Amino acid sequence: MQYSSISKITLEGRVLFVKRDDLIDPHLAGNKYRKLYTLLQTPSSTYDTIVSYGGTQSNAMLAIAAMAQKKEWNFTYYTKQLSQTQRKQLSGNFAHALALGMEHIELEDALYREYIASLRLTADSRTFIVDQGGAIGEAKVGLEVLAQEIIAQKKSGAIESDIYSLSTPSGTGTTALFLALALPEYKVYTTPCIGDVAYLKEQMSALAELPKNLIILPPKKKYHFAKPYKEFLEIYKKLLKSGVEFDLLYAPSMFEALLEQTNEKILYIHSGGVSGNESMLARYSQKGWS
Ligand SMILES: *Cc1c(COP(=O)(O)O)cnc(C)c1O
Repeated sequence: MQYSSISKITLEGRVLFVKRDDLIDPHLAGNKYRKLYTLLQTPSSTYDTIVSYGGTQSNAMLAIAAMAQKKEWNFTYYTKQLSQTQRKQLSGNFAHALALGMEHIELEDALYREYIASLRLTADSRTFIVDQGGAIGEAKVGLEVLAQEIIAQKKSGAIESDIYSLSTPSGTGTTALFLALALPEYKVYTTPCIGDVAYLKEQMSALAELPKNLIILPPKKKYHFAKPYKEFLEIYKKLLKSGVEFDLLYAPSMFEALLEQTNEKILYIHSGGVSGNESMLARYSQKGWS
């Protein structure tokens, strides 16, 4: 496969570079492509079913659905009970994932935790379980491939020679952590978009020891994940005007932190998620924000 390209954008007068992992595939792009890389390279005959769980508009869910379709694997996805509003708004990632063949199973809220914990105990060797958000150790290899691409693009001149800082936003922190481990000569800036700095560190520590070149910037204020914020929409629109569409859940907080807490040249690794904007923009417009 070709390397994802580099774009130059300007946000509030600041020049930033973007590695366009969002362009890899319509459904299987961004960091979910990198995290699922090992599974994508696995022969189809190794598994017959992929099981995962989490939110109904998850980007990971859509990426797994696209992968399962390509590999001809069944895909079973567990969520908690859908709310009335969710049931009515089954557009966006959820609708796309169903169209790709995902089987959706709703669990009673009271049973959810226990059931998810039991998946691993009952799964056979032909079933692979992808933890929520794709937080799997197998993600390491895909991020090493990304690191090699960055090194090669630096050599070829596609990435300017004086860039030694990267950035990508965190949910589970899997992407930022494995990227930092794979590129010790670069700084990797991230920010927690789910929970706070302490929670992010805890999540990351379950995967590996945190390296010194991984820098966690605190968000400007306490944001609740997947809640619409006017300032997020503003940053999203400014970025769009500059020529690149980013997701509405993670990217705005990361860019806000970068603008306020850094000043060097940065290569932002686009983490994908643009397919989720359809349902998010609908929620913004319900609030009368557009
Ligand atoms: C999943 C996701 C993230 C978070 O990735 P982690 O590896 O869980 O930290 C960031 N940005 C977008 C757009 C995502 O879909």
